[in-house]
Amino acid sequence: MEIHRKASEHGWIEVITGSMFSGKSEELIRRLRRAQIARQKVQIFKPVVDNRYGEDQIVSHSDMRIASQNVRSSEELVARVDEDTEVVGIDEGQFFDLNLPTACDTLANRGKRVIVAGLDQDYLGRPFEPMPQLLAIAEYITKTLAICVVCGEPANHTQRLVASSDRVLVGATGLYEARCRHCFDPYLADTGKGKEQDAERQRTKP
Ligand code: ADP
Ligand code: ZN
Repeated sequence: MEIHRKASEHGWIEVITGSMFSGKSEELIRRLRRAQIARQKVQIFKPVVDNRYGEDQIVSHSDMRIASQNVRSSEELVARVDEDTEVVGIDEGQFFDLNLPTACDTLANRGKRVIVAGLDQDYLGRPFEPMPQLLAIAEYITKTLAICVVCGEPANHTQRLVASSDRVLVGATGLYEARCRHCFDPYLADTGKGKEQDAERQRTKP
């Protein structure tokens, strides 16, 4: 689905959602770049996680980059959107507070095109708030799938490879991988099997 319309008086919400490595950030960056090429005023935000301020940019796993602003809450995000901004991009939607859907609604009601990327499930396969609530109110939804690193089928799950019961454990390579329904094992890291399987795959790589 491609949304070509120029931002008008009527705003709307687009959500890009799926597992890690499924291309959410790439798709978000692609849409935001196209809006910039169309000379629309674009503002891009990502949340501060665990009080850590990352770089002021969104970076995809394939190293696509776009400048962004760090915000601590959805309230701060709304406050930082300029009157004349036409497109608002938001990455890592799952790390925002539960007011994110209301914040997006407020911006869309002010005529902005709001595009949010975020994980739909956590490492146990549970819906990752506030993404489900956002999906319910969005006009457009794109579900992205990664490739299962075990079997090569489309992957809808984020497999955690290290033992931790924290819902938020930030990182990618070595901590998480994409897996399909069949190969996903939410309890894998508990037993230490994850690391062994990973090492075995590295050893047997062609
Ligand atoms: P997301 O934001 O959903 O985590 P990104 O947009 O950051 O995803 O990265 C997607 C890119 O990750 C792909 O284009 C590809 O280059 C790379 N990649 C690494 N592992 C995988 C995988 N298992 N399946 C698909 N893409 C992968
Ligand atoms: Zn698989």
